Formats: sequence, structure tokens, C-alpha cells
Amino acid sequence: MAQFALQVEDLHKRFGELEVLKGVSVTAHTGDVIAMIGSSGSGKSTLLRCINLLETPDSGKVTVSGELIRMRALKNGHATPEDWKQVDRIRSTLGMVFQSFNLWSHMTILENVIEAPVHVLKLPKKEAIERAEKLLAKVGIADKRNHYPSHLSGGQQQRAAIARALAMEPKVMLFDEPTSALDPELVGEVLRVMRQLAEEGRTMLVVTHEMGFAREVANKVIFLHQGRIEEEGNPREVFANPRSDRLRGFLQTAH
Ligand code: ADP
Ligand code: MG
Repeated sequence: MAQFALQVEDLHKRFGELEVLKGVSVTAHTGDVIAMIGSSGSGKSTLLRCINLLETPDSGKVTVSGELIRMRALKNGHATPEDWKQVDRIRSTLGMVFQSFNLWSHMTILENVIEAPVHVLKLPKKEAIERAEKLLAKVGIADKRNHYPSHLSGGQQQRAAIARALAMEPKVMLFDEPTSALDPELVGEVLRVMRQLAEEGRTMLVVTHEMGFAREVANKVIFLHQGRIEEEGNPREVFANPRSDRLRGFLQTAH
């Protein structure tokens, strides 16, 4: 049986009266790069947050590398220690990159990157440092290892955040508008790193407004509208021939 890197089935999530996700299903095969687009408020961040368990969905299933996440126990407050262990394990296999970088400001870049490998994976510090140095070189900021985040540009900080996520050797990388907070001239350097990750065959789910990236790098695009997938498919085909008026309208305003 085929094993998917990530499978989301019929996910529902509401905040009080507001139903934010109304039955969303997403399947990522290993190596898929999925771009998720949609207007502000359509539920993109909530979907990512449900996948990495920062939010608990009301219903639906999330399966990561063939492992079904046991949410019901968490939701009802009857979680067993085993359930929590699973949550921690799943979280550590999902690399998350946020719009706002979220680096620890009191730690150097190197310390940021080795923190979770040392404390969560229990990697010996020397090994964690070697891994971090390779990753910082890969994202092009090896010379910044002993700097604090505030001394880096936004683009460098976001590349550090990507290195930090990669240091956990995640099965799936989740990006939530990773370039939206950047000055325009810094967007390219982050997209280049992401493109490189895609070319290496990493499984990625990327919420983005960068239509060029979605078209050229993603092999699938999902258009979320008011908590439902309105349209999905091959980005070139979907962008060239949007079927729904809503997507057509969205693409017109998204340049
Ligand atoms: P997007 O990322 O597509 O802009 P979000 O997933 O952030 O959309 O938000 C979808 C809707 O859910 C918005 O109306 C937002 O205000 C609401 N929302 C998100 N998180 C919460 C929360 N923790 N509590 C209440 N409402 C929320
Ligand atoms: Mg969002």
C-alpha cells in the first residue's frame, strides 16, 4: 500500500461560532511540493497549525508518514502519556517555518539551530554543531553562526529558521508565508533556498502569495476559500485555466 508523507482527511475546525475549516483533505506523497494559496482569513494558517498540532482539529484525520495522530484523546482531555509522546514525536518530524521567523532572540544562530537536536533528539552537542554548520552553509549564512538574530537581515533570519527546522531532519516541511514579512529585495534569497529544498526531493507544504514560486516549484497547488478547497491541481494548468470565478478573481488581484 502506498504510504503518504502526509495525509489530511476531512479536517474540521471552528473557533466558537466561526467554522474555519469545513472538511479539508490534502495528500502529499514523498517529494511533493504543495503550494497553498487563498485570501487572508481562508484558513491556511489554521490548517498548518492543525497539522502540526498547535491547534486540535474538531474532527478529521492527520496521518504523518503512515502514523495516524490520535487526536480524540487530546481533544477530550483524556490523553495518555503515550498520546503526548506521539504528539511530541510527530511535531519533531514536521519542520515549521513561520512568517515571523520566531528565532530565539537571546541565542546565537548556532545555538538556535542546535537547541532542539540537543534537547529533543538528544544528539551529542558535537554532532549537533557539525549538523548545524552544514545546514548554515547550505542556506548561505555560515559566517553568521555566532551572531544574534537581531544582527541579521530578515532574509538571513528566515534562512536561519529554515536551517533550524532542517536540523530536526523533518519528514515534511511546513511553511506559513515565509517571505511575507520580508522587504521585497530579500524575498529571492529565501525562495532560492526553498527551491533548492524542493529540488532535493523534500516534501513541503507551503502557504504563499508568491505565485511564481507556486507555478515553477510546486507540483500541486491548492486554493483554499472560506475553509474549503475550491480548486486544486497542477499549478501551470490551474493558473492557466482556473475553473472557478473565485480563483480567477484571486489570481487577478494576486498579480
Ligand atoms: P489565513 O491564514 O488563511 O489568513 P487563518 O487560518 O489565520 O487564515 O484564519 C482563519 C479565520 O480563523 C480568521 O477569520 C481568523 O480570524 C480566525 N482565527 C484564527 N485563529 C483563531 C483563534 N485562535 N481564535 C479565534 N479565531 C481564529
Ligand atoms: Mg495565515
